[in-house]
Amino acid sequence: MKKKSIRGLSLKELQEFVESLGEKKYRATQLFSWMYAKGAQSFDEMTDISREFRDVLEHSARVDNLELVRKSVSSTDGTIKFLFRLIDDLMIESVLIPPEETAPGADRRLTLCLSTQVGCPLDCKFCATGTMGFLRNLTAGEIIDQVIQAQRHAERRITNLVYMGMGEPMLNYEEVMKSVDILSDDRSLNIGTKHITISTAGYADKIRQMADEDRKVKLALSLHSLDNEKRTQLMPITKKHSVSDLIESLEYYYRKTRRRPTFEYILFDGFNDTKEDIKKFVTLSKRIPCKVNIIPFHSIDFTGASGFAATLKPTPRDRMEQFAQALREANITVMVRSSAGEDIEAACGQLAVEEKKSKAKSKPAITETLT
Ligand code: SAH
Repeated sequence: MKKKSIRGLSLKELQEFVESLGEKKYRATQLFSWMYAKGAQSFDEMTDISREFRDVLEHSARVDNLELVRKSVSSTDGTIKFLFRLIDDLMIESVLIPPEETAPGADRRLTLCLSTQVGCPLDCKFCATGTMGFLRNLTAGEIIDQVIQAQRHAERRITNLVYMGMGEPMLNYEEVMKSVDILSDDRSLNIGTKHITISTAGYADKIRQMADEDRKVKLALSLHSLDNEKRTQLMPITKKHSVSDLIESLEYYYRKTRRRPTFEYILFDGFNDTKEDIKKFVTLSKRIPCKVNIIPFHSIDFTGASGFAATLKPTPRDRMEQFAQALREANITVMVRSSAGEDIEAACGQLAVEEKKSKAKSKPAITETLT
């Protein structure tokens, strides 16, 4: 009998599964709690489940765990980047980001940046993941397990999740939303939807769907330019969903949910950081109450960028601050993001795995790279 992979099953699916084994429904609640709230790695750890039932489970089910291959710790800010191997030997990365010490509530917060796909098909010109191409979508179980595995290496509870690692969450909508439902369940890891952000390169249809389904998570749009032509140069996805299409979908989202979206905006020197760009932003904020996250452009030189990508340079710090200040003067809530983890290539947009597929049979040792 083929064993059923149960990491990633919802409570309802687990109930159906245990019933198919001729067991009582409450067994599913036990499994749910062991797998998600307690992060059990095997049936052996599920000590309050009878030996007999654990034997049945051993024969009929599997709890697939991500295998930690490498853990890199930033010496400058404590960011931790994890390299995980999936069941089919493909690799993904996740990043644990401690808050800046000066931030309010810093001692209570810990954020994990999650991947949703292996690679990404969108080919945004500034992003390292794009250079890998697309390999496959992650399952809900693989998304959830990033949290469970990272938690084992964290000094305190992971309180916030950002779906901003490798991949485009909206292209894996069902599994992403299923992972959110499980992770936010109070019988599971209980990470409140208010503390979960989904970031998209711009799928207007999915933004509308999130509004229609009244998804309570926070929504972020990687905007990067309000000029359709320039955005198309940066992000080819703009050919499918134009800037005006995206703005309309966010207007719809705001009207329906009353939740302010966040716009992420990487500043590229001389490309999208001019007075004209500020004016467009101010006009937009009158249409949609929003927050803006200014992101420094992190170098992806290590990918051997060429052509248009190689012409992109970061706006210097002082002009970044000026850009942010101009938006604040127009009453826009603005955050300038730090570059946590840049020294270990763990900052926004720097995630890329070279070892696409390792055929090695032997398990590699976990190496702790201290930079
Ligand atoms: N596909 C989703 C989530 C992954 S990217 C999205 O596009 O939103 C997460 C964030 O990192 C996005 O805002 C993206 O635009 C940003 N990013 C990508 N490459 C970057 C780089 N080199 N420097 C800074 N931010 C980058």
